[in-house]
Amino acid sequence: MSENHFDLIVIGAGPGGYVAAIRAAQLGMKVACVDATRGKGTGKLALGGTCLNVGCIPSKALLDSSRQFHNLTHMFAAHGISADNPKIDVATMIARKDKIVSQFNGGVAQLFKANKVTAIHGHATLHKDRKVTVKDFDGKQTAYTATNVILASGSVPIELPFAKFDGKHVVDNVGALDFDAVPRRLGVIGAGVIGLELGSVWKRLGAEVTILEALPDFLAAADADIAKIALREFKKQGLDIQLGAKVTAVEVRKKEVHVRYTDAKGEQAIVVDKLLVSVGRRAYTEGLLAEDCGVRLTERGMIEVDEHCHTGVDGVWAIGDCVRGPMLAHKASEEGIAVAERIAGLPGHVDFNTIPWVIYTEPEIAWVGRTEKQCKDEGIPCRAGTFPFAAIGRAVAMNETAGMVKIVAHAETDRILGMHLCGPNVSELVHEGVLAMEFRGSAEDLARICHAHPTLSEAVHEAALAVDKRAIHKAN
Ligand code: FAD
Ligand code: NAD
Repeated sequence: MSENHFDLIVIGAGPGGYVAAIRAAQLGMKVACVDATRGKGTGKLALGGTCLNVGCIPSKALLDSSRQFHNLTHMFAAHGISADNPKIDVATMIARKDKIVSQFNGGVAQLFKANKVTAIHGHATLHKDRKVTVKDFDGKQTAYTATNVILASGSVPIELPFAKFDGKHVVDNVGALDFDAVPRRLGVIGAGVIGLELGSVWKRLGAEVTILEALPDFLAAADADIAKIALREFKKQGLDIQLGAKVTAVEVRKKEVHVRYTDAKGEQAIVVDKLLVSVGRRAYTEGLLAEDCGVRLTERGMIEVDEHCHTGVDGVWAIGDCVRGPMLAHKASEEGIAVAERIAGLPGHVDFNTIPWVIYTEPEIAWVGRTEKQCKDEGIPCRAGTFPFAAIGRAVAMNETAGMVKIVAHAETDRILGMHLCGPNVSELVHEGVLAMEFRGSAEDLARICHAHPTLSEAVHEAALAVDKRAIHKAN
């Protein structure tokens, strides 16, 4: 076989693609992974995709920096800690974020080396019979072939026709992760995950943040009780969240962004210094599919796949943000592992019912499985147990008492159907629900498991007891 033939070529080195490449290499395949991302300031191949370069990791780095600052300016006084004149040096904060990103870019490169995955830089196009051409950063084109190809090309932000990204005043996630100073007034279109997370970052650092959300309900995908608590807490923090706000026009004038919208009260307008547009993402397939490759797109522009991520074209698979399902890094990775294992003849599978969601705000929001409303809509009889963090000793000791845990269980079998949380460290606690659901556990199972005292996980234990109306530390 030629040097340019691989058992598997993965297009895209995000959490879907790079994980698939490593798993396939572990299974003995000769693997190449192609990616077109250049590192900030280096111009060299930066492995890790959206998640590592301009998504999950840099946003969490800034969330952590801004949380430290917010604690210093707003929370420490209650502990008797004071500091004179605290300041934020945005350049240092951004440099710390960039260093974390480049550290992990190098980490993925090292993992490729250790697993003998060939990293190829450039933009790849899939042709008939699994031929892949790559135009590298120097403009040189090389052709490769593979027995299998995984398309893991990810997603890009949706642009509103009247609010084109200019990278300066009207920005997407990339811009909002790289402001060189705290904007005095930040506008955000879309109160989804990115709007809330990045809105929180700049609010905690001192920006006036107004979030315009088109839907009348806040976080419509979350459990209604959890969304209500979260909205109350965000409003307390000073995030100005306007629901049912339909933006009609955006205009940049003299370094200011003028935003017009309509809501239940009529025509409204705000003026901000920066505008983040975070109204969802779409699959990225530009230049990926040659006409003869046979891979089809759905009406929404996603790569069409079956439940096993197969495109219908022999040996061609697609995973992650470019296909149906939630746009989450861990979903992309799980699909990558499942497809690599299927190619190797093993039974790979991803259960969409047990994929956790986390929003890394303060308080954090997390869930897995169905909400009570979804159960109702699907005619599934259910009962729910809740427990507030305000009654948890550890949460009170931490001074982080907002929020609760809610467990939804089948009314007849008691099987756990969902867990919904808002509060401190719930990004970690949600996995108790994921694990229980993966093992087909019941609320009774969780209720009978001994949880250490004093921990936040006692809220999960008590919520499980509350399903059967026998929580100990609240009136049932
Ligand atoms: P991507 O990570 O998008 O990677 C695709 C890669 O393919 C890119 O590097 C792209 O350059 C490359 N590529 C595309 N086409 C070609 C081509 N033709 N040739 C060569 N290379 C190509 N998810 C979470 O689970 N948790 C979070 O906390 C979280 N935070 C986020 C914060 C932000 C601000 C954003 C924007 C997203 C966040 N996400 C988060 C979502 C997460 O980033 C995505 O779900 C995830 O990156 C999808 O992985 P992927 O491998 O499918 O695609
Ligand atoms: P999103 O789908 O989470 O939220 C978009 C919001 O914008 C929705 O509430 C929608 O109703 C609203 N909207 C849409 N059009 C609008 C308009 N014209 N005017 C006002 N509001 C409008 O999308 P996102 O925040 O851009 O994030 C994209 C995806 O990235 C997420 O769905 C998620 O999959 C992923 N992500 C995940 C995390 C995480 O896991 N913590 C963090 C960031 C991003």
